[in-house]
Amino acid sequence: MNRPASTSPIQVLLIDADPPLYDTISAVLHASGEAFNLTPLNQLGELEQALEHADADCLLCAQHPNLSIASEDSGPAGLMLLQRVRRHPGSLPVIMLCCAEELVGFAAQAMWQGAADCLCDEALLRLPAAIRIAVQYHATMASYQAPDNELQLALAVLRGSRDGICVTDAAGNILLVNDTFTQMSGYTLAEVKGHNPRILKSGQQDPEYYLAMWQAIVENGCWQGEIINRHKDGSTYTEWLRISSVLDEAGQPSHYVGQFGYVAEQKRLVDRINQLTQFDPLTGLPNRSLFLDRMEQSLVASRRSGRCSAAILVNLDRFRLINDTLSQATGDRVLVDMARRFAKQIRQGDTVARLSGNEFCFLLSNLNAAEDAILLAQRLQDVIARPLEHDNHPLIVTASIGISVAPRDGEDGETLLKAADAALIRAKLEGGNCVSFYSPSMDADARRRQAIEAQLRGALARNELSVVYQAQNNLDSGNIIGTEALLRWHNAELGMVSPGEFIPVAEETGLIIPIGSWVMRQACAQNKEWLDQGLGRMRVAVNLSTRQFRGDTLVDEVAAVLAETGLPAELLELEVTESALINNIDAAVATCRKLKALGVKLSLDDFGTGYSSLAYVARFPFDKLKIDQGFVSDITHNPANAAIATAAIAIAHGLNLSVLAEGVETEAQAIFLRNRRCDAMQGYLFSRPAAPDAIAQLLAQKARLHLGATATAASKQTLLIVDDEPAILNAMHRLFRHENYNIITAQNGNDAFELLARTPAQVIISDQRMAGMTGTEFFTRVRQLYPDSLRIILSGYTELEAVMDAVNHGAVYKFLTKPWEDDQLREQVREAFRIAGRQGDSGAES
Ligand code: C2E
Ligand code: MG
Ligand code: MG
Repeated sequence: MNRPASTSPIQVLLIDADPPLYDTISAVLHASGEAFNLTPLNQLGELEQALEHADADCLLCAQHPNLSIASEDSGPAGLMLLQRVRRHPGSLPVIMLCCAEELVGFAAQAMWQGAADCLCDEALLRLPAAIRIAVQYHATMASYQAPDNELQLALAVLRGSRDGICVTDAAGNILLVNDTFTQMSGYTLAEVKGHNPRILKSGQQDPEYYLAMWQAIVENGCWQGEIINRHKDGSTYTEWLRISSVLDEAGQPSHYVGQFGYVAEQKRLVDRINQLTQFDPLTGLPNRSLFLDRMEQSLVASRRSGRCSAAILVNLDRFRLINDTLSQATGDRVLVDMARRFAKQIRQGDTVARLSGNEFCFLLSNLNAAEDAILLAQRLQDVIARPLEHDNHPLIVTASIGISVAPRDGEDGETLLKAADAALIRAKLEGGNCVSFYSPSMDADARRRQAIEAQLRGALARNELSVVYQAQNNLDSGNIIGTEALLRWHNAELGMVSPGEFIPVAEETGLIIPIGSWVMRQACAQNKEWLDQGLGRMRVAVNLSTRQFRGDTLVDEVAAVLAETGLPAELLELEVTESALINNIDAAVATCRKLKALGVKLSLDDFGTGYSSLAYVARFPFDKLKIDQGFVSDITHNPANAAIATAAIAIAHGLNLSVLAEGVETEAQAIFLRNRRCDAMQGYLFSRPAAPDAIAQLLAQKARLHLGATATAASKQTLLIVDDEPAILNAMHRLFRHENYNIITAQNGNDAFELLARTPAQVIISDQRMAGMTGTEFFTRVRQLYPDSLRIILSGYTELEAVMDAVNHGAVYKFLTKPWEDDQLREQVREAFRIAGRQGDSGAES
């Protein structure tokens, strides 16, 4: 392409460079503000074609391009390509690129062999100017026909250059300068002709600098670098200077050519490139590299002042779901909105940056105390929680926050960020929407999480996953009514990893999608096998993760699995947790309806751990509610949990749902739940999760849960005596031996609760002073769990104040001081049973 000066883009070919080099060059050319078209060439054929059709202006070629080329010559492939291009009749100006360390040797060779220029990677900012000059020179030379034009031509090129140019003879006397030189230095040709360029010297660079410069020119034929010169008016200015020697036929320098460029222009380019490479284009916030830079500076300043700095890492929870289920555009809007909110929260001198997808980081410097960071973290939680508008619905976003503090948790930026990241992982593991401070033990957690993620990627392919089943029993009959499929993972490196640990990782990384469908297939096939073997017609429950539930392929997939395995739809139950339902309730209801339309059953897992509200549960077509094991584990002696479980049972029955209690470990819990009309249970009491064979065995044996009978109030009067001194318990036994009561005894409050769960007692006597739980504490809870019981306390004078308080709050019906009168106590107990009897009768009548 013969290029006269024109405004059409300069066509630049780049020979087979690595993508990072391509990206950098592209950014540099773009930032110059001039029109360049950069095209990568990956094949030799493409290069031949470009040369053939002359449809490029300039060629960039690395010293070692990836492209290999067969040639009789030896040397760097870049030079061989250069020779090939130079041999071509049309030819092209070629600019060679090399690394800074090799510039000296390579540039001389390349220029010798006809390269238009040679730049090292550190000088890439000069590339736009270098291309322009090379192209202009090439075009002029191409249009140059008559030898007598030579001088004029050279002068035209010289004058046209946007760089300042100064040509000297071998002795260093100035022969020629161009207009740009005059603009930059203030000197006209007439003023400098015959002088040495040292008239420009500012005196700000020491003699060694010039010595090194001349040494490079003598050895390599060229030198380039930044130099401070003095303007004619006395002011100094910094410029980029490149000096090359021109050799005569004997190979001796005949002239030197100096090319000057303003550093200001370079600076402008640097600024543009920084803008492109240091800020996040979506939110306009600094990006990771700029953040780290600022962090280092701030840490140095904090060290000097003896104050602390903090890194606060903010990661939006379940952000991928927003992208996956709403849209990428919505995700972008959320990020931009959050970035705006965040930017308003920082003080001058602090920074907030977007580090990656949904991750932001704050840098707070000059803090008085580490705890100051928590104030901002709390404010951030509030700011994040303000709903966004999406399709006229409020969209609520939460975030996990990890905090680290310098110098305590690390003295350099990378370490501090790593610490904040470890704290963030902890916050995520706690279920998100919380703040966590770094502690050294978290490093191990973070490493483990990384290992889990790395290993989990190949787990399915390596056959490391398996499914176990846990029986579910009807609480009245004890029969097995179904099983829950639970995933297990054994990895060669990590050993057995619990689902509590790897499911959240699978969820976050998206691995749960293939893993979840695999579990569903396994479970359905297994249940069908048991059905075919005549082991019973029961349901298998499969857990759905939030991501599976919200994906748009779930319904089709369930249908396909049922068809594939032949399992009747009503024998599959899908367990959903509340976290899958929130955010977009309408969509969740629609998904549940579609699943129900297939005929499968739906249950709400871990009830009570989320936002559970009655109105909300009622909107979903669930068949079953599973009370979370957190309520069950202390149900017999924690009145609050017992009340929640009891209410959940009532709610569920009111909505026509069945209720199953999870994590039932003791008979007392099972009986307690049965007494409160819970329908079914699942837990270690009957069976741990087990391999299919073990479950088949249980089914074949028709194994059942056997629970003791509950003594009913009418059958016998039951007296519970609680005292930690065995001698007193014996004395009491003797005292009541003729009364025909069913006497049960316990030595502490907890044992007493276990007894009460199985055998409700109408009258309870307790000592006040007991280790662990005092009598009044015990009775306060008994009152809530068994409000109809009559509670008598025995106390010494010293404890009277606490006892009186309990009496006033209704926890205690009567109190007797020690030592008691036998007859009096016997009479009090008889009276208590009479009252209990009357209560029972009126209860039965009403
Ligand atoms: P989950 O669905 O609530 O399952 C019940 C968990 O309670 C199981 O833990 C089970 O082993 C445990 N468990 C059952 N009975 C008792 C008991 O009497 N005492 C105690 N302490 N624990 C009992 P596991 O197997 O460790 O699973 C934990 C959670 O991991 C499950 O909670 C479920 O949310 C999730 N998970 C397990 N398998 C899968 C799966 O295939 N897909 C998905 N998405 N999640 C799964
Ligand atoms: Mg479950
Ligand atoms: Mg559960």
